[in-house]
Amino acid sequence: MSRVYNFSAGPAMLPEEVLRKAADEMLEYGTSGQSVMEMSHRSKEYQAIIDATEEKLRKIMEIPDNYKVLFLQGGASSQFAMVPLNLMTKNGKADYVITGQWATKAYKEGSRYGEARVVASSKDKTFSYIPELTKDMFDPEADYVHICQNNTIYGTKYAALPDVGDVPLISDMSSCILSEPVDVSKFGVIYAGAQKNMGPAGLTVVIIREDLIGHAKDFTPTMFNYQTHADNGSMFNTPPTYGIYILKLVLEWIEGKGGLTAMKEINEKKAAMLYDFLDNSKMFKATVQGKDRSLMNIPFVTGKDELDAKFVAESKKAGFVNLKGHRSVGGMRASIYNAMPVEGVEKLVAFMKNFESENA
Ligand SMILES: *Cc1c(COP(=O)(O)O)cnc(C)c1O
Repeated sequence: MSRVYNFSAGPAMLPEEVLRKAADEMLEYGTSGQSVMEMSHRSKEYQAIIDATEEKLRKIMEIPDNYKVLFLQGGASSQFAMVPLNLMTKNGKADYVITGQWATKAYKEGSRYGEARVVASSKDKTFSYIPELTKDMFDPEADYVHICQNNTIYGTKYAALPDVGDVPLISDMSSCILSEPVDVSKFGVIYAGAQKNMGPAGLTVVIIREDLIGHAKDFTPTMFNYQTHADNGSMFNTPPTYGIYILKLVLEWIEGKGGLTAMKEINEKKAAMLYDFLDNSKMFKATVQGKDRSLMNIPFVTGKDELDAKFVAESKKAGFVNLKGHRSVGGMRASIYNAMPVEGVEKLVAFMKNFESENA
């Protein structure tokens, strides 16, 4: 077997221990005589799995009791609509901070359902920074403020949360959830597609403050109403059963590593290794500078398209895959989520050093 180091932005690497455990349990989960994939979501065995997953997530993220955890489908992209459909209902307006493609898509979707306003944008410099945000920039009458906390494509993240007063803060955490501790009580809604840091594609996790549930617009499709899922323990219809099970294994793995404080330490160590190399290299350069740098997604360039292409091709041959940057930025991007081992980053840096000296 030769597993590669996969630097994909998502779907991304999963911890090898998780995949092995899932493989061991593939044909028979416990004494159930069946795979988790084959189980009725209404069975006792499956109920125990989804309950344990929620309990572990609550424990690891220290989710307060007045928040619901929902296991949904439709990806983070469906949340771009679910958030306004459910929340843009008091004053019919919301504030958006535009820090990249996902934030822009969320804003565009929000605009379909009410008065969405751009508070600030970093488009002027290809989204290579997070705009300065002060409290007076936000509308105190807005139904919510939406941010994309870690910008997967551009490699930025909020070094600090904006002060939005009493307005609920909604965060797309698709590419940073579980990478470090967060104070859930600072948010109205946290949502994330699972395929970056939580598990396989097909599962979307929503963490929502209870008082924000139950105010959806009349025409909201039943499946897009948070209340539907909150009232039914994410079992109004068939939930993404296998994805939830894998998330449970991922959470157990995180627990075994020491929880989110330990995750943060490891992630900082991995990111520092790569950024330090980039900052001292004569060939490679990080596209994001300073405090807004992401721990999870690190874009970099050589400045020459042919050299970028050569690097991507040669790195692939050496077992480092999916390093090609997003089509809108070019260059390269190393996504180093929780599951990327320290050793993977060490080896990548060694490979880059070697490439630099050979192509100087
Ligand atoms: C990947 C990603 C999305 C899109 O997720 P889907 O599950 O494909 O809809 C949205 N926001 C961020 C920050 C992402 O990284």
